[in-house]
Amino acid sequence: MTAALTEIETASALVRSRIPGVGFVINPYLGCGHGCRYCYAEFMRRHSRFNQESRWGEFVEVKKNIVGVLAAELARKRKRGSALLSSVCDPYQPAEKDYRLTRDCLELLRNYGWEISILTRSPLVLRDTDILRTARDCRVGFSIPTDDDRVRKILEPAAPPIPARIEALKQLREEGIRTWAFIAPMLPMDPKRLYRLLDPVVEEVMIDPLNYVSRVEGFFRKQGWGYALSCQYARQTRQTLRKLFGAKAR
Ligand code: SF4
Repeated sequence: MTAALTEIETASALVRSRIPGVGFVINPYLGCGHGCRYCYAEFMRRHSRFNQESRWGEFVEVKKNIVGVLAAELARKRKRGSALLSSVCDPYQPAEKDYRLTRDCLELLRNYGWEISILTRSPLVLRDTDILRTARDCRVGFSIPTDDDRVRKILEPAAPPIPARIEALKQLREEGIRTWAFIAPMLPMDPKRLYRLLDPVVEEVMIDPLNYVSRVEGFFRKQGWGYALSCQYARQTRQTLRKLFGAKAR
């Protein structure tokens, strides 16, 4: 299903972050067309004026003026900083293809010499390698919480396939861009296979169990994945991954 789009105005672009190593976050969209079943960002719906009753994943509000707002904010800053796109939406969700807000924000950050960090599930990021290559300091991360595309199809039905994400990481590395992967939450997976797929294409991995179980219990039981709902599964899988990735794991 394609998410319904609404254009909105935003009063701010840079939001101070509590994520370690990240000064600010920028979210060009409220809502996310990828609609992952376990999404941790669903709480953002309460900030919507139009979609408080809509299902997460079925609406996206486009912050139409965010580029102008960001330009004004950057001009007022005395020091260069660091920004992550994005924390509560995917900056390369389907709406970005036409709206290009992420691209225009990146161009501004690059021009002001800011450190850029990206976290996405979409190879659409490859469209912007011209900007990323010329940024002072830039890292691109892909969320890849399983090696199994059958799991992805059920839990992330509108997000790009796992092999397409791995291929995008490979291409980014070939362009000389620093890459990383975010493995979270601990979905059903073969950790060794995930390691073999990711190790050649990332410099580091962040592994986090996240708290998502209550959102997906029904889906998991229906698929026979009940074993993956336990804390023990999350702990063991995380440990296995940490061991496999060694110094690359954070
Ligand atoms: S891509 Fe991220 S923000 Fe979007 S629905 Fe999935 S988990 Fe949520």
